[in-house]
Amino acid sequence: MNKYIPQRIAALEEYTPSEGEYRIRLDANENPVCRVPDHIYDKIREAVDGVSLNRYPDPCAKELIKAFCAYYGCREECVTAGCGSDELISLLVNMLLGDGDRMLVCKPDFSMYAFYASLANCEVITAGKDGDLGIDFDALAECAREKQVKAVFFSNPCNPTGRAYDRETILRFADSLDCVVVVDEAYMEFCRPGCSVLGDVGERENLIVLKTLSKAFGMAALRVGFAIAHPDIASSLKKIKSPYNLGAVSQAVGKTILGFPDYIKGHTAELIRGTKYLYDSLVSLGVHAYPTDTNFVLMDFDDDVTAGRIYGELKKRSIIIRNPDRRHLRVSCGTDEENERFIYEFTDIYNTRD
Ligand code: PMP
Repeated sequence: MNKYIPQRIAALEEYTPSEGEYRIRLDANENPVCRVPDHIYDKIREAVDGVSLNRYPDPCAKELIKAFCAYYGCREECVTAGCGSDELISLLVNMLLGDGDRMLVCKPDFSMYAFYASLANCEVITAGKDGDLGIDFDALAECAREKQVKAVFFSNPCNPTGRAYDRETILRFADSLDCVVVVDEAYMEFCRPGCSVLGDVGERENLIVLKTLSKAFGMAALRVGFAIAHPDIASSLKKIKSPYNLGAVSQAVGKTILGFPDYIKGHTAELIRGTKYLYDSLVSLGVHAYPTDTNFVLMDFDDDVTAGRIYGELKKRSIIIRNPDRRHLRVSCGTDEENERFIYEFTDIYNTRD
């Protein structure tokens, strides 16, 4: 290894999204629809046409944030826009934690919280989950206090388990702690009602919610995410971000799609139905699938070979899903045809045991 590369960077495990061409991609919890209806697409085209490509974008993404606030009923002074929630996670880690400070995450959960914390030279404390992959919030709070962590990050609903906790549970947890609690609500649009704490952030100094246009809004290519926080936190976040972190095209298209709530809600309902089809089909095959409040389903196999075998066979048939570890597979909801094809091929592979 090149001697100029610090050891902590050399030791980092890379996040490896699946590469290659597949006929059916159900690996990244994206939205399967690549083309919105024509009347929305026309508005997107108009918005892109209106961008002055020679000018730097609005550093504060005011119009985009205004559209976000109209959609979710937030206060503009609480919202920061970033290049995907990924950038905001990185910014929050750098803002809230210094060298050697401790951050608490759960396992399994979205891996980028721990990744950015390691990158920032923080100590990552990892709390396991129970046998059902649930979070014991009392134990988590106890751990946060005992280890004197500066921040706790988790997703609700959780990637990869699909499980969500209700608002009261999250607020009780956040209110019991003297550290920052970051709740990543990337998949909240797919969730049963009563779980979001988005409406509670402004009054609390220690609660931050992350949102993204990459999932229900179907705009992963734009890289648009939002952090919603107490106004003091929001203005500090704006202070530390790079001035032009979000491109003008992304701002313009993001603003446009946020103006079509009926379409988003209708389409989200379809994806929820598709996810239920995947879950029901897998359960009826006898697979241990976890109930889900998201647009994906996690499966657990009680040995170390079945998940890998199914994953490899699906790949040969040009279907890519996620194989996060030896025992688990995660499949994202696709279009109806993709879901049906997936279940057809999965059934064939699953029933052909050695
Ligand atoms: N949070 C969670 C829980 C995710 O699963 C993902 C993407 N898989 C992200 C954040 C990243 O979102 P973005 O595309 O906005 O960076």
